[in-house]
Amino acid sequence: MQGKHSAQSQKRDARPEFWDLSMRCCQLAGSVDVAFFFIFLILGSPILAWVNVISVAMYVYAYRAFKQRRNSLAILLIRIEVLVHAGLGTVLVGWESGFHYFLLMFIPALFVSMHARSAWILAICLWIYYVALDVLMWYIEPLQPISSNALLGVHIFNLTTVFFMFSYLALYYVITVTRAHKHLARMATTDSLTNLFNRRHMIALTEKELARHHRRPRDLTFMLMDIDLFKQINDDYGHDTGDRVLSAVSQLLQESMREQDFIGRWGGEEFLAVLPETDTDQAWASAERIRKAVETLVVENDGARISVTLSIGITQYRAEEALSNAIARADHALYAGKSAGRNRVELALG
Ligand code: GH3
Ligand code: MG
Ligand code: MG
Repeated sequence: MQGKHSAQSQKRDARPEFWDLSMRCCQLAGSVDVAFFFIFLILGSPILAWVNVISVAMYVYAYRAFKQRRNSLAILLIRIEVLVHAGLGTVLVGWESGFHYFLLMFIPALFVSMHARSAWILAICLWIYYVALDVLMWYIEPLQPISSNALLGVHIFNLTTVFFMFSYLALYYVITVTRAHKHLARMATTDSLTNLFNRRHMIALTEKELARHHRRPRDLTFMLMDIDLFKQINDDYGHDTGDRVLSAVSQLLQESMREQDFIGRWGGEEFLAVLPETDTDQAWASAERIRKAVETLVVENDGARISVTLSIGITQYRAEEALSNAIARADHALYAGKSAGRNRVELALG
C-alpha cells in the first residue's frame, strides 16, 4: 500500500503541471454545471437540473481527491462525469444541444495523462461512443425536448464553454512547454553547483566569438583561473563546505564580469573567462581586481571564517589560432603563477 502511494505521488510529482491543470478544470467544470443547474430549472427541465447537481457533487469530490493526492480516483470521477453528462444531455435534449462537444476535450487530456498506447485505445473507445451517440440521435427523438430558442441558447452556451476551455488548454500547454524548454536549455548550459556556464557551453560560446574574430579581428583576451590549495579546504572542512566556498567564489566571479564578458566552470575549481574587446592591460587590471576581491571573500562555516585565493593566467587570442592553443597558453601562465607562490596574476609570454 505504501509502495503504491509513493509510486502514485512520484507520478504526480513527475507532471505537476498536469495535476494543477486538472484541478483548475475541475473548478471550471463545476462552476459551469452550477450555471447549468439554474439554466435548466428556468427552462423547466428538472431532470437535467438534477443531473447537474450530481455533476457538481462529483467535481467537488474529485477536487477533494486531488487535494488528498488520490489522483486516479479524481481522474476516474471526472471521466465518468463527462461521459455520462454528455451522453445524458444529448439523449435528453438532442444532438443540437452540443453536449457532445465536451467529449472532444478528452482527446488532449488522454494523451497528456497516460502512455501513448493506452491513450490510443481510450481515444478509439471514445470515438466509438461519440459516433454511436451521433447515430443514435439520428434515429430517436430527444427524451426531454426544450423549445427551439432554449435549445439554441444551450447550444451556444456549450459551444462557447468548449471553445474557451480549449483555448485555455492550448495557452496553458504553450506556457508549460515554453517554461520546460527554458528549464532544459538552462540545465544543458549551466553547471548546477556554481550556476556558471558549463564547459560545453563555454566552448560553444567561445567558438562563436572566434568566428566573429575571424571576420573582424580585434582584442580578445582569455583568463584561466584556479582556486589555490582547494584540496586543503575539502580536507579541513569537508566536501560540502568546499562546495559552498566554490559556489561563493563563482558568484563573486560572475558579478565581476562586464556585460560582454562570459565566464564558465572549466573544471573542478577552475574557471575560464572570455573578454571580448579587451587588451592585456585591461585584462590584467580586471584580473587584479578579481584576485583581490577573492582574497577578501570570507565564507562562514560553523564559526570558522574560510578564505581562499585565486591564481589567474591571462593570454591574448592570436588571429586564426585554435581555441585549444590559446587555452594551453593561459594554462601555462596560470601554472607559472602557481609556481611563483599562488595568489598571482600572470601574463602568457610570447
Ligand atoms: P593548486 O593551488 O595547485 O590548484 O592546489 P589545489 O589543491 O587547488 O589543486 P588540486 O588539483 O590538487 O585539487 C583540486 C581539488 O578541488 C581536488 C578536488 O577534490 C576539488 N574539487 C574539484 N571539484 C570540486 C567540487 O565540485 N566540490 C568540491 N568540494 N571540491 C572539488
Ligand atoms: Mg586549485
Ligand atoms: Mg585545478
